[in-house]
Amino acid sequence: MNILVVGGAGYIGSHMVKRLGQLGCKVTTLDNLSAGHRDAVLCGEFVQGDMADKALLNQVFAQGQFDAVMHFASFIQVGESVQEPAKYYANNVVNTLQLLDVMRAHGVKQFIFSSTAATFGEPQYAPIDEAHPQQPINPYGRTKLMVEQVLADYDKAYGLKSVCLRYFNAAGADPEGQLGERHEPETHLVPLVLQAASGRRAHISVFGRDYDTPDGTCIRDYIHIVDLCEAHWLAVQHLAQGGASDAFNLGNGNGFSVQEVIDTATQVTGRTVAVQEGPRRAGDPARLVADATRARKVLGWQPQYADLATIIAHAWQWETRK
Ligand code: UDP
Repeated sequence: MNILVVGGAGYIGSHMVKRLGQLGCKVTTLDNLSAGHRDAVLCGEFVQGDMADKALLNQVFAQGQFDAVMHFASFIQVGESVQEPAKYYANNVVNTLQLLDVMRAHGVKQFIFSSTAATFGEPQYAPIDEAHPQQPINPYGRTKLMVEQVLADYDKAYGLKSVCLRYFNAAGADPEGQLGERHEPETHLVPLVLQAASGRRAHISVFGRDYDTPDGTCIRDYIHIVDLCEAHWLAVQHLAQGGASDAFNLGNGNGFSVQEVIDTATQVTGRTVAVQEGPRRAGDPARLVADATRARKVLGWQPQYADLATIIAHAWQWETRK
């Protein structure tokens, strides 16, 4: 297959590009390198540019003959989305609409969209399945839900088929050690804990110990980046085989607290992790755990690396790379 990966130089996109290359796909990455890294794109063609540049999009699509588009080029920080919503609506919604328009103009009808658990908002029950109400509580979650809704309408009106994959907490790194998480600044728990373990960072701040959870810290469902990418590949195949547009929650169904992540990292690395107590971070629900039964049933998704220690071990291999 011939696939355009928008945002293919970022954390998730770069792992996806590598996997598509291994699968024998023709891959083109479009990335403006605002957050991604050119050297993370291990195969295929690379085009540096922005989704906002319609002329460039038209040029890339005219040359590409793509079967499907995967879209990883969104801003992802909840806190920043509250401070700077315009930035989030402009990129995550307006630029995505433009990408969809150009797809339509070039007759490309299959779209895999990176959505998020943040579209659900405050959990009304756990684990969260696809029937859970979607009431996002921050601009980031709203931008993703808006695109989900647009995609439902575009399927009905234009026959544009899509799969929305709602990630819970992506973590880990390429088991072969070639790729990993490199956000600047880093805001995610697993890499921050490992930076504290390696000495790159003095400590990790725990954002709140007064949640209604067994140890008082927030619980999340961590999913290995390789398992996440596999779900994208299965989603592309689902659409290629005539499957209907759909949305799936992706997680392992196991919740781990911030403290459990720190404890597991301590065991995996054999290092101490200095911890500082911090206040709650605005917009953090106490517990987010996925029910991914539908992805298993409909897509045949089977996570290989569901174990938190393995996820952390792969991220540690990346953190301690030479
Ligand atoms: N967290 C923390 N300290 C940090 C970063 C994150 O305690 O320095 C907590 C955060 O409050 C949340 C969990 O770790 O409960 C996962 O946060 P992350 O930002 O990795 O992902 P999110 O859940 O926001 O998608």
